[in-house]
Amino acid sequence: MRASAKIDEKRCMNYLIEDQDQLKEIEPLFKELGERGGEVAVDTEFFREKTYRAKLCLMQLGIDGDQYCVDVLAIDDLQPLKDLLVDERVLKLFHAARQDMEVILQTLEVMPKPIFDTQLAAAFGGLDMQIGYSALVQDRLDIELPKSQARTDWTRRPLSTEQVQYAADDVAHLAQLRELALQDLNDNGKFDWFEQELADYYDASKYLLEPALAFQRLSGGGLKIKQQYALKALAEWREAQAQKRDIPRSWVLKDDALFDLACRMPRTDEEALSLGVFGRKSGRYLAPQAVQIINELEVGDEVIWTKVDPLTKQQKKTVSNLMRKLSELAKQHHVAQGLLGTRKDVEGLYRHGQSEKLLEGWRAEIVGQPLLKALEAEQA
Ligand SMILES: [Zn+2]
Repeated sequence: MRASAKIDEKRCMNYLIEDQDQLKEIEPLFKELGERGGEVAVDTEFFREKTYRAKLCLMQLGIDGDQYCVDVLAIDDLQPLKDLLVDERVLKLFHAARQDMEVILQTLEVMPKPIFDTQLAAAFGGLDMQIGYSALVQDRLDIELPKSQARTDWTRRPLSTEQVQYAADDVAHLAQLRELALQDLNDNGKFDWFEQELADYYDASKYLLEPALAFQRLSGGGLKIKQQYALKALAEWREAQAQKRDIPRSWVLKDDALFDLACRMPRTDEEALSLGVFGRKSGRYLAPQAVQIINELEVGDEVIWTKVDPLTKQQKKTVSNLMRKLSELAKQHHVAQGLLGTRKDVEGLYRHGQSEKLLEGWRAEIVGQPLLKALEAEQA
């Protein structure tokens, strides 16, 4: 590595990779990692306020104790990075992997594999499911990291020394955290649970929302069947619009506006505009499209959202008792409660006597079955 690329002369371990040549220079390192089946710590910094897709600004890599902050905004050909991320011989270490994987998938269009998630591993060790990187570093390594740069503007160039230092810190301790976590998982017989949970991370459909599935984010249980079909079609249209124009979906239309349109079903542009749900400018082209969707709507006879009756007082008490049991089980197995299941999961199990999440895989034995037993006892 050329001295000019060093940004920390004292520690000589943080490198800012600012152009194509510098990326090319570290590429042999990636290749060598593959050959020896090594591991790389990965983090991303991105920006997503005014866009549908995140804008990847920086990718940090931690390799053998050195940190490489790759300025992806300054480099055209990111193929070496993509190759590294998909190299099945190289383990990618993340903290809170889902967010990074989403950004990587949306921007670089590759699925990092295989991965290790230190946040997930921490949850299997009884720590909070959402534990932050700094908190985990503090807890497990007793190292206090400088205050978060979470509000920093990662699109700004040049990046400040503080920004690069902060970014590098984000991957500096992942290898050590993983080592401790792995020991823990193995010692407590939880590695298999962890692996099962991780398998779900590679499901691309979790990160790239198909417009046709956009309705799943909404709940139209209170609507008539015709209105439900309208809402589903409008949700698909809105998602496609947002993706095409790369803006947040709420900038196309807010959820409330979609419900208004689905309920009122305007048949003409004037009618649609008079509902007051469109922006002044965008309404001119969005309203006719919405009207067309409603006019061409094909209504099936299958219910899209079933109406869920609220629980009675007694039923709520039963669910609360099951939640208490869940909490006990979490303590007993020393696993984050949220990882075992949520109130929604438990309520689903209670309502339907079944649950894909709680009664399949590693959860079945340690949560699902005990909860069913508790429910039987309760109802006996
Ligand atoms: Zn970060």
